[in-house]
Amino acid sequence: MKRLFLSPLCCLLLLCLGCGTRGASRSLFHMDTFLKLDCYGTNAEAALDACQAEIVRLEALFSATLEGSDISRLNRASGEAVEVDADTAQLLRRAREMSILTGGAFHPAVGSLVDAWGFLTDAPAVPAEAKLQKLLPLPSAQAIQIDGTRITLDSAARLDLGGIAKGYCSERLCNIAREYGIESALFTLGGNVEAVGSRPDGSPWRVGVRDPEDAEGIVGVIELVDRAAVTSGGYQRYFEQDGTRYHHILDPETGYPANSGLRSVTVIAESGTDADALSTAFFVLGMDAAVALMRSAALDCDAVFILSDGSIRCTEDARFTANAGKDCRTISNS
Ligand code: AMP
Ligand code: MG
Repeated sequence: MKRLFLSPLCCLLLLCLGCGTRGASRSLFHMDTFLKLDCYGTNAEAALDACQAEIVRLEALFSATLEGSDISRLNRASGEAVEVDADTAQLLRRAREMSILTGGAFHPAVGSLVDAWGFLTDAPAVPAEAKLQKLLPLPSAQAIQIDGTRITLDSAARLDLGGIAKGYCSERLCNIAREYGIESALFTLGGNVEAVGSRPDGSPWRVGVRDPEDAEGIVGVIELVDRAAVTSGGYQRYFEQDGTRYHHILDPETGYPANSGLRSVTVIAESGTDADALSTAFFVLGMDAAVALMRSAALDCDAVFILSDGSIRCTEDARFTANAGKDCRTISNS
């Protein structure tokens, strides 16, 4: 069996060139992902120290694999109540809301399926059909009972917050930077990018949307000011078995990798947490259902869809410019 994991850093390529103002930058590896933190202003170093400490703290709370994390403790609690950190409770609250909003396409209790596929191990493989069917239907979002910081998880449910935790983290980093008086910062956590303000020269941040077919290439650029852009794509993490590719975004209804006609979707929203949960949900739902949800729920977000045939559709206010020659059309989401 061949296993291929592409560097998530390539998911969105940062195109910030020639930023002259005093700044600080750090490249790190956490949450199984390459991170790049860029901060501009007099407090940039101190802000990044605080950001780095926060990343380590949140990873230790949210990881599904680190023993002793809040999520691991909940997964092993056999239905008993567990006291968790305030950030874990807040993230679970948001995850539950997003699950309800998306009709379960974003599903925080997808952990049993992720385990069955072995996506968090060195040897992912297609599980037996009977094993998958035993896990379905997944316990609903109501399986997570939240009473302040006291959480009770149904004994059959297994949490995996891989589809939202990086978005929550980038949102926290932006808030920390703002507390340090930073007016210009960009945080890149794999396929998640979130901006404080604009570039130091006042122009928008420019974030490349990765070409799903070319690890080195981009299909176009999104302009970003005080917003997050989060990409979910089948190319980001996958393995091959008997000539078939299986990626890591699972359809909670079927138990199999989502197959909704998309190569990737990038969601642009004010909140990194929302953008992250929605990008995963939209990838599962496919473009038509995603756009229908944007309209019916009046979601305050935009999206760039790359369809299976390589063509691109972006919503009106996505501030996306495709590379010359790309088949890119604008669609209405309101
Ligand atoms: P993302 O790259 O943000 O779309 O998140 C993908 C990750 O979220 C996977 O690696 C799993 O850990 C988890 N995941 C997979 N499928 C789902 C789903 N339908 N809903 C929520 N999380 C998921
Ligand atoms: Mg996501």
